[in-house]
Amino acid sequence: MAGRIPQYFIDDLLARINITDVVESRVKLRRSGKNYSGLCPFHKENSPSFTVSPDKQFYYCFGCGAGGNAIGFLMEYERLAFPEAVEELARLAGVDIPREEQSPQQAERDHQVKQQISLLDQASQFYRQQLRNANTNTKDKAVQYLQQRGLSGQIASEFQIGYAPPGWDNLLQHFSSQKDVANLLEKAGMVIHNEEKNRHYDRFRDRIMFPIRDMRGRVIAFGGRVLGDDKPKYLNSPETDTFHKSRELYGLYEARQSNRELNRLLIVEGYMDVVGLAQNGITWLSLRSAQPPPSNT
Ligand SMILES: [Zn+2]
Repeated sequence: MAGRIPQYFIDDLLARINITDVVESRVKLRRSGKNYSGLCPFHKENSPSFTVSPDKQFYYCFGCGAGGNAIGFLMEYERLAFPEAVEELARLAGVDIPREEQSPQQAERDHQVKQQISLLDQASQFYRQQLRNANTNTKDKAVQYLQQRGLSGQIASEFQIGYAPPGWDNLLQHFSSQKDVANLLEKAGMVIHNEEKNRHYDRFRDRIMFPIRDMRGRVIAFGGRVLGDDKPKYLNSPETDTFHKSRELYGLYEARQSNRELNRLLIVEGYMDVVGLAQNGITWLSLRSAQPPPSNT
């Protein structure tokens, strides 16, 4: 994301769009006088106390007190950060966001994050392909493991589960045609640099791969689980420009995909728990922190 979004643009955007359109595509509304009303998406209710005022370009719920403008609604409803909500509105309005000038360092950082997101997405596709197509004994082992754990192909695909085959450089080889890719993969947390030998090697080897996705569904990191009893049982991506462990919950994106009104969360211990519960219909609360579970809760 580049540069600050100028305030004049935000004001202009809010004047240009109609909050009723934004809300109506997500919440069923009925006209009542000058306003619209409907069932509040932010709390459970049977009679509508949620109102949208086209005059004021504002929404308000008399039941739970939620209220704000179109940006606030998108942030709340779609769980977006402010700039993402502005981006979404700009997209609806069909306008480009002007950016205030950014420092060269900031531009460089943005560029790197974009590159990493793209690499992580390609890595995820590679791992999924390894699980699906590779015709080897090791791949059969991975499929068998998932089947033993009772996972269906459908749930594995929903969670984009993949497989990192055994070996030191499968991922590196996969990307070998891309320039300077080892360093980029290292920054993305996917390969490790051996200082002594000055060589890179794959971080994830012979593991079931769980992509960790952000609220926009972008792969930002991975968790890898061993097939047998090797240690460590789970291996996570390190902190990177895209992955801040304390801010992410594995499974939150998927949970929100299947239930918009997520008002409870259950933190479970392993990736397999999240996926297994989701398969059994417990999508509304199955989450796992991407950090080790806190010991006192
Ligand atoms: Zn409400």
